[in-house]
Amino acid sequence: MKNSEVLTLLSDPKVLKPLLSKLKNKLSGLNFKERIRILEFCGGHTHVILRHGIDQALEEWIEFVHGPGCPVCVIAQSRIDYALNLAEREDVILTTYGDLIRIPGSNGISLQQVRARGKDVRIVDSSLATIAIAKGNPSKKIIFFAIGFETTTPHTAFLAKRIKEEGIRNLLIVSNHVISTEILDFLLTNGLKVDGIVAPGHVSAIIGAKPWEEVSLKHQTPMVIAGFEPFDILLALDHLVDLIKEKKAKVMIQYKRVVKPEGNVSAQRLMDEVFEVRGAFPWRGFGYVPKSAYKFKEDFSFLDAEAIFPCQYEEKALKGCLCGMILQGKAKPWECKLFGRTCTPRTPVGPCMVSNEGACLAYFKYRLASR
Ligand code: SF4
Repeated sequence: MKNSEVLTLLSDPKVLKPLLSKLKNKLSGLNFKERIRILEFCGGHTHVILRHGIDQALEEWIEFVHGPGCPVCVIAQSRIDYALNLAEREDVILTTYGDLIRIPGSNGISLQQVRARGKDVRIVDSSLATIAIAKGNPSKKIIFFAIGFETTTPHTAFLAKRIKEEGIRNLLIVSNHVISTEILDFLLTNGLKVDGIVAPGHVSAIIGAKPWEEVSLKHQTPMVIAGFEPFDILLALDHLVDLIKEKKAKVMIQYKRVVKPEGNVSAQRLMDEVFEVRGAFPWRGFGYVPKSAYKFKEDFSFLDAEAIFPCQYEEKALKGCLCGMILQGKAKPWECKLFGRTCTPRTPVGPCMVSNEGACLAYFKYRLASR
C-alpha cells in the first residue's frame, strides 16, 4: 500500500468509528472517579485532537492538557528580542523558519515588520538553504536563527558540519534548540498533575523511547508515543487508558511505522558531535530551565553567533498574553481575555496564535464558532 493510501485510511471515518466506540466503551466501564487528565506534549497533536473533535467526543472521560511542544511558542521573549536586534544590523541577513517571523517582540514589532521596513530577513525551509545565501552574499554575515526540538536539531548539526567542511566564514548560527524530555521533567517536577502523556512521534523518531522512559519512571506516569493521524491518536489513547488502569508507568510506541525504540542513532551521533547541553536556557513562561537546550561544542564555536553578538535581553511578558500559562498546562486559550478579540490569527499578540502548532490557533480555528 502506498504511503498516501495509508494516511487516507488512518483518517477514514469507517476505520475511526469502531475504534472510538471501543475506547468509549472502555472508558465507560472503568468508572474513574474523575475525568482523567492526559497531556498531549506536542502542538501538532493538539491540532489533530481539536480538528477531529476527539476532545469533544471524549470530554465525559478525558480532559486534554495542552503541552509545551510547539517550538515557535516556547521560544522566550528575550530570544525574539535578540533576533530582532540581529535583524536590525546593516551587515546581517537573518534567516529562520517560517512562523517565527510573525511573533511580536517586546516592543510589539515582529521580524516580518522589520523586513517590511527594508531589513534583510529571509525564511528558509531547510537549514542547508542558508549555504547558498552565504555564498551569494560574501560581504554580509548570514545568521541562521535555528529553533526547534530534537526534530530539527540534527538538521542544524548537519549545517554546522557543512560550514566547517567547506570553510564558510560568513555563516553563523544561533542555537535555540531545546530538549523535550527535560522540559517535560521540569513540568512534572514543578506540580503539573496528569494521569498519562501522549508523547511526540517526530521527536521520538530521533531520540527513541529511552529518554521518555526515564521521565515516565521518575514521575510514575505512563506515556504512549503517537503519530499524527486521528487513528494514531485514538489508538494511543486506547493504549494509554490501559496503562493508567493497570497503573503501569511505562512507555509504549504506537507510532511503530516511524519510531524505533533506539531512535535514529545516526542523527543522535550527529547531534553529539556538534552540540552539548547548556547550563540553563530561557523558555516562555517557565524562566530559565536547567539543561533544557543545546549550545555548540568548542570545535564549532567559530560559527556560534552568540559568541560574537551575545544575547543580553531580559525576559519580559507580553501584556495580557497567557501563552506562558498555556504552555505549562495551567490555562486554556479561551481563558485569555484577548483570545478572539484583539488576538486573532491576523493580529496575533502571542506565539500560540501565530504558530501552526499553537494551542490558541487550534481553538480559534476549530472551536471559536462553537463556544
Ligand atoms: Fe497569547 Fe493571544 Fe493566546 Fe491570549 S489568545 S494567550 S494573547 S496568543
